Amino acid sequence: KMGNETLKAELGRAAWKVLHTILARYPEDPSIREREHVSQYIDSFAQVYPCGDCARHFIKLLKRYPPQLNSRKNAAMWGCFIHNKVNERLEKPIYDCTSILDDYDCGCGEDEAGLDE
Ligand code: FAD
Repeated sequence: KMGNETLKAELGRAAWKVLHTILARYPEDPSIREREHVSQYIDSFAQVYPCGDCARHFIKLLKRYPPQLNSRKNAAMWGCFIHNKVNERLEKPIYDCTSILDDYDCGCGEDEAGLDE
């Protein structure tokens, strides 16, 4: 069986991947409902994240740095910023956010989620 740290790291990589990919596909010009859905998703993500210590720290970060959900670019940049805050605490390298939208391609082409349909 893999060690705890390995499992925790693997969970983290998978979780970040989903979060960044969602934010990179967030609407350019979100409706109020689209905004609410992602806002609730991020809150729930923090609440249910199965590493309790991680969740506690992340909830504090969310309070201090609320998600910026007025546009795709700002949402993706916020995700990058908040991940960098976690990187900082874990003494990991700071990620360059400039090409964040291109770094997280969902592989779904123009087939965007259409959160309200
Ligand atoms: P990760 O940080 O998992 O990143 C994966 C990949 O994403 C990197 O290889 C890089 O290509 C890219 N990346 C890196 N930084 C960014 C960024 N800012 N924006 C976009 N992409 C980026 N672990 C703990 O030990 N303690 C904790 O308290 C803790 N809290 C966490 C809280 C949350 C909400 C999450 C999702 C994870 C948490 N983790 C925690 C796990 C930790 O963040 C890492 O996922 C794990 O340590 C594996 O690290 P990694 O070096 O492989 O890269």
